[in-house]
Amino acid sequence: MPSSNGNGVSVPVIETKELWRVYRLGDQEIPALRGVNLTINPGSYIALKGRSGSGKTTLLNCLGGLDRPTKGTVRVSGQEIGTWNERQLTRWRRHQVGFIFQSLGLLPALSAYENVELMLRMIGADPKERRRRTLECLELVGLTKWADHRPYEMSGGQQQRVAVARALANSPRLILADEPTGELDSKTGREMLTLFGNIVREQNMTMLMATHDSLVDDYVDEVLHLRDGQIVTAQQFAEELEAGGAQNAKPSV
Ligand code: ADP
Ligand code: MG
Repeated sequence: MPSSNGNGVSVPVIETKELWRVYRLGDQEIPALRGVNLTINPGSYIALKGRSGSGKTTLLNCLGGLDRPTKGTVRVSGQEIGTWNERQLTRWRRHQVGFIFQSLGLLPALSAYENVELMLRMIGADPKERRRRTLECLELVGLTKWADHRPYEMSGGQQQRVAVARALANSPRLILADEPTGELDSKTGREMLTLFGNIVREQNMTMLMATHDSLVDDYVDEVLHLRDGQIVTAQQFAEELEAGGAQNAKPSV
């Protein structure tokens, strides 16, 4: 895992240059990302804020190799992933990235333990290591006692924790989370944001979290603002919210 270029200078976990993603719908072009320039250093806990439709999910997908840029470059830990083929991307993703989606994607027939362990099976970890890392991840999220329970036997917050443990299983350097607190009440949401902070620091990971939850400001190292597919300053972002009035300021889901 390259974290330094050999001269002791740390390589950004994420670096995009003039990143564009244009969707085509029939003969219509929808520019979801319009020249995003972004640098994120290792060990940071970053929130990506923006209204619904501003391009948050598209950006996370391009950074995690689930989608490909139309133009521009995406480097993750120094590797330019934007040009890789599907096979390369899949392999890289399984080993290097942890995803937490809002729709958690837990398999209902599997226990918490099995949902986490599955990720380690997919990368071919040996049985002993699978068991060790699965138990470690469940402990990190405080679910040791719930290892044998299935998702439907757990609260929303606990299910979210299983999804977090699963994202950690492959020991990724980068975790991408898409509105991870969107479905949680504010107390559970705060617990989750604290947990993410602990994970970033204790596991030496980098986390980028898309959200429009105002709670996050107290927890993260930095807030990035996305507006119409472009990164803007906090001030520009605030001005738009004011200009848009109460109706626009309220995030639509
Ligand atoms: P956010 O996550 O901030 O709500 P998205 O990244 O989902 O924003 O969407 C950004 C823009 O791109 C929106 O205008 C959305 O309608 C459009 N978009 C997203 N995915 C697709 C797609 N698969 N096909 C066409 N347009 C899309
Ligand atoms: Mg989204």
